[in-house]
Amino acid sequence: VICLLKAYRGHVVYTASPKEFTVIENGYILVENDIVKAVSKDLPEGIREDEVIDHGDRLIVPGFVDLHFHAPQYPNIGLGLDKELLPWLEDYTFPTEAKFSDVEFADRVYRMVTNELLKQGTTRVVLFATIHLESTKRLARILDESGIGAYVGKVNMDRNSSDNLIETTEDSLAATESFIKSFDDVSDRVKPIITPRFVPSCTAELMQGLGELAKTYGVPIQSHISENLGEVDWVAQLHPEFKDYASVYDNFGLLTDNTVMAHCVHNTDDEIKLMAKKGTYSAHCPNANYNLSSGIMPVRKFMNAGVNVGLGSDVGAGHKVSISQVMSQAVQGSKMVWQMCDKELKPLTTSEAFYLGTKGGGSYFGQVGSFEPGYKFDALVIDDSGLQIELERSIEERIQRFIYCGDDRNIINRYVDGREIEVPNTK
Ligand SMILES: [Zn+2]
Repeated sequence: VICLLKAYRGHVVYTASPKEFTVIENGYILVENDIVKAVSKDLPEGIREDEVIDHGDRLIVPGFVDLHFHAPQYPNIGLGLDKELLPWLEDYTFPTEAKFSDVEFADRVYRMVTNELLKQGTTRVVLFATIHLESTKRLARILDESGIGAYVGKVNMDRNSSDNLIETTEDSLAATESFIKSFDDVSDRVKPIITPRFVPSCTAELMQGLGELAKTYGVPIQSHISENLGEVDWVAQLHPEFKDYASVYDNFGLLTDNTVMAHCVHNTDDEIKLMAKKGTYSAHCPNANYNLSSGIMPVRKFMNAGVNVGLGSDVGAGHKVSISQVMSQAVQGSKMVWQMCDKELKPLTTSEAFYLGTKGGGSYFGQVGSFEPGYKFDALVIDDSGLQIELERSIEERIQRFIYCGDDRNIINRYVDGREIEVPNTK
């Protein structure tokens, strides 16, 4: 094994704990192959000054982690967002997703999606594709070639949608199994994830089969839960035999410590307890929830209960790919919940929101989202000189301003797994 040591210098910022930013002004990150070995104030041993990759006055932060993204909805970004969830799905999402039976169309869209994710600083992402096996396999290949880290899901639907968007239960399960097997020769950065769209789209038989596949192949699971009150009522009508929405998933083996559930806006206390007990992840998607007037997830309640929480852009219900934007929206939403609903639920701090969008969601991928020793070196180099306005600011204030006011133009370098990733048309 070739051992490759590299050191990066700059203002190192990360959140080992959600409570505070860890800041090392003019610090070093020592990386061995793809793994962080140490962060330090002084030049690490084993490296000469002239070997250091010097990012000067720039900030070095962990890459952003997006736990919920619909790749085929990217062509719809920003459209129909004056509607609510169920009409929006009928009018925009489903007709567009049907077009992904065409692999060449999918190829063009998925290349744009992959570039945009990297451009916006997302280094790890959990994605929904569509029901179509071949175009979903193409997405996995494009992601792998790009260098990004991802879980990719072939969507499963066998009820309650138009004929061109559902499969028979047997076909859906067979295609999912074939999708999982197709990863034998793909890198360990891009992996499959079992993807029942949500309970209303999947029969009990399909959910049962998917739960079994997850167990057999040790594959993670993603879905949606309690985004919208109409959806919650619908699930209760479809499954009066179960106590609540989370129990439906749980009954079919779909609520595990390897599951990520998007939204969690309207969960009951019992469901939150169940998710905490199971170790299930929640993808908080405030941008999408505001756009579709779904509500505001009481994220503090989930954190207090010990649920693993990360952030999701939920493109196309979310209209921004950037996770730094989702961080600021998460703080805004938590302030509204505190002000309007429950004074016990303290608003998020900026460091907590940053933690959710890096280490919180990153833990779904293993040791990802921080610069503590042993973590994968996924990093962004931020040039915020254009965001500085006269007064001198601390490094912590500079990261705050980047989160609220910065964008992809400030992101100069991107590293995933210790390797620098070039994005077309960003330099
Ligand atoms: Zn979604």
